[in-house]
Amino acid sequence: MKTADAVIIGGGIMGASAAHFLAKNRFGKIVLLEAKHLAAVSTGHSAANVRTYYTNHITLELAKRALHMFEDEHDELGGDCGFQQVGFLLLVDPNSLSVGNRIVELESKHGLDVKDLSPDDIRELAPQLSLTNVVKGVFEPRSGYADPVKTTQSLISRAEEWGLKAYQGSAATGIRKKAGQITGVETSDGAIETPVVINAAGAWAGHIDSWLDVKTSLRWSRESDLFVEMPADFGPLPVVSDPYHRSYFRPHSQNRIMAGLGAPKEIEPLHPDDYDSSLDPKTRQRIEQPLFKRVAALETAKHLGGYASIYTITDDWHPIVGARPEVEGYFAFFGGSGHGFKLAPPIGEALASIICGESPAIDIKAFRPERFIEGEPITSAWGEGNRG
Ligand SMILES: Cc1cc2nc3c(=O)[nH]c(=O)nc-3n(C[C@H](O)[C@H](O)[C@H](O)COP(=O)(O)OP(=O)(O)OC[C@H]3O[C@@H](n4cnc5c(N)ncnc54)[C@H](O)[C@@H]3O)c2cc1C
Repeated sequence: MKTADAVIIGGGIMGASAAHFLAKNRFGKIVLLEAKHLAAVSTGHSAANVRTYYTNHITLELAKRALHMFEDEHDELGGDCGFQQVGFLLLVDPNSLSVGNRIVELESKHGLDVKDLSPDDIRELAPQLSLTNVVKGVFEPRSGYADPVKTTQSLISRAEEWGLKAYQGSAATGIRKKAGQITGVETSDGAIETPVVINAAGAWAGHIDSWLDVKTSLRWSRESDLFVEMPADFGPLPVVSDPYHRSYFRPHSQNRIMAGLGAPKEIEPLHPDDYDSSLDPKTRQRIEQPLFKRVAALETAKHLGGYASIYTITDDWHPIVGARPEVEGYFAFFGGSGHGFKLAPPIGEALASIICGESPAIDIKAFRPERFIEGEPITSAWGEGNRG
């Protein structure tokens, strides 16, 4: 029987963030268990867009903190996260005009650099784009995208310097409790005695909860991205979100462009232990159609493949984070719902403060697991099923 002060289950961005900030706070002996390898599932397939356009105060404040962390990745996140500050452009159509205006108002109120762009301004910024149905743009010059694998590895590597033990290929197989208190974790390599467990198991979080008879409502959706070769002389391109076509695209390393489907999402149910992780022809077409409408030059660009991965979705499309009232010492940190990558580091920082008995710099009470039964889900000005 080994011992630890905290055990984190899951080595995606959420588990890595929790581990990093607990280690940074010198919480004690911290162990992270990852059944496969770091960033093996949703995190490794994330578009990893880092933007701040949120329509509620809590996510906006966290996204603002996230942006600062990525800008200062070596000090804040432990090393190279591959952050590319190419800017983020929201193409606003007549239907999204009121939300677009709210975003500018809210972001400005939160001290973020956000610009209202006319169609002519957009043409200057990204001349490749066709602007049919676009009435204006909302542009975040400081936003961009990161490398999700590098980010996870940097968080872990720095935490290892502070004493974290991260085990890959080591699965949690059970959780022990006594008198309503966590006492240990069973693993494929033996048991670990601990008073604190963080469930950061992504798509398997509900399964892990079931070991403790804790109930969580989660859905899974199959989500795909594809790549095309960036034509020569294409010019600079920000991350583009196109709500009119429910599409997004952005530059990617090695002269590629990455594209996927935007919100609101049609749920494509899957089981995380048995799903098709390839880019199927129908999904490829669903992503390509809106992409080619906005960027005609890509229609003849070389297709470079793609994949399908998993969104783990909560009832209000926002993560579930915090102490579980059912079992002392048991904490939730999962349910990224398609936008959890950027939010994970600031939420991990806040959760680590809470576990260390301190007040977090950003209050994350809004993410508490009980919010659904208390009738206080998190809302978005975009409406239900949206993560903005
Ligand atoms: C295609 C796609 C595009 C996305 N784009 C963006 C974006 O642009 N911006 C953004 O902010 N977010 C985006 N997201 C969402 C974001 O990537 C996820 O919310 C986030 O990666 C979830 O991280 P996680 O750590 O909860 O889950 P995961 O990365 O899935 O990690 C969970 C880990 O737990 C491990 N695990 C499970 N059970 C056990 C066990 N019993 N023992 C040990 N380990 C276990 C798994 O192996 C897995 O590695 C996107 C997601 C996808 C799929």
